[in-house]
Amino acid sequence: MKTIEDLSLSSQRVLIRVDFNVPLNEDGTVANDKRILATLPTLKYIVKNGGKAVILSHLGRPTAAPEVKYSLRPVAEALAMRMGQPVAFCEETIGPKADAAVASLAPGEVLLLENVRFYPGEESGEESFAAELAKHGDCYVNDAFGTAHRAHASTTVVAKHFPGKCAFGYVMAAEIENVDRVLVSSKKPALAIVGGSKVSSKIDILQRLMDRVDEIIIGGGMSFTFIKAQGGEVGQSICELDHLQTALDILALAKAKNVAIHLPTDVIAADDFAPNANTQICPIHAISADWQGLDAGPESLEAFKKVVAGAKTLLWNGPLGVFEMEAFAGGTKEVGLAIAEATEKGLFSLVGGGDSVSAVEQFGLADRMSYISTGGGAMLEYLEGKTLPGIQAILDYAG
Ligand code: AMP
Repeated sequence: MKTIEDLSLSSQRVLIRVDFNVPLNEDGTVANDKRILATLPTLKYIVKNGGKAVILSHLGRPTAAPEVKYSLRPVAEALAMRMGQPVAFCEETIGPKADAAVASLAPGEVLLLENVRFYPGEESGEESFAAELAKHGDCYVNDAFGTAHRAHASTTVVAKHFPGKCAFGYVMAAEIENVDRVLVSSKKPALAIVGGSKVSSKIDILQRLMDRVDEIIIGGGMSFTFIKAQGGEVGQSICELDHLQTALDILALAKAKNVAIHLPTDVIAADDFAPNANTQICPIHAISADWQGLDAGPESLEAFKKVVAGAKTLLWNGPLGVFEMEAFAGGTKEVGLAIAEATEKGLFSLVGGGDSVSAVEQFGLADRMSYISTGGGAMLEYLEGKTLPGIQAILDYAG
């Protein structure tokens, strides 16, 4: 894998695509600078080696035209604080002002250009827009894992202008290395915990994992489709009736591939989808008609914790209950804690994809996991085995 360390940067204009799609406060200041912090090692490496950093990013979903609320200007200020040096900002991404801002850079200086999504050519992957962006750099670095699944101008198309002169930044390299540690070179037994609301959105992941892991815990809302498919009564629990056969097929595939599947055996059922609903613990296959399962029950949790304790490699995607409500967060929290404790004893644990990352952060367990992926949708597609265009472009042109 070619990384930024393989490029010679001294006095070079380093065009770098990052993911500064950060949440902003009402007053326009940066509400959470996690993504900025993640990119610091790559940016500092450029500066330290005498490169001129020309940064590209998107922010939010503007409709291919400038919108003040999606300007990256506040991000330049937040970045300057974190970098401990000035960060220039240009309100154009391409055009004469941007050209002049890039031309005025000295080695070790940093420039952030305006939101690439202010231009229609970005999301459509327009060749001419990519060519304009390419003019800003002598080499190209992609460090935006979160948008690696998009074939946009600044994430993918631009790479062809830098044959032999493009590479991955540290964020990208870490994401790829850590997921491959689960998917390619895992220590056995390898366990995947897949939860969340729907089987339909996790079919591809489950199928792919069958060839990579020894055991799978299926939890959260999606477990009810499996229980119903096996003849259980799930009451009002979330259940995809049009995917009962899919669930049976997944179970059959697991059997054929010798992958142990662990489903919950009991649940915390509620008489309403509400934080203050009445609750009871009941077997997962015998939920009363008006009740719904919103979290894993104690028997299931004991079983899941034993499986976690025996694993050497673990991938966690999707919560085990409605963790957003305190009353139904217990299962996700307990299993998260078990993973943290096992990690301290040598387990390699990777948490990836949207909600499980939020859950782990909410419970203050993030620092106790081996690796937390920053790329929600991109990570899901990577786990599904799809080729991410942003990664492929670097592989194709890095030389
Ligand atoms: P996903 O985006 O498919 O990973 O699903 C995440 C969502 O699944 C979270 O918002 C959880 O609240 C929800 N979820 C987890 N367990 C359940 C459940 N038993 N019933 C309804 N929703 C659930």
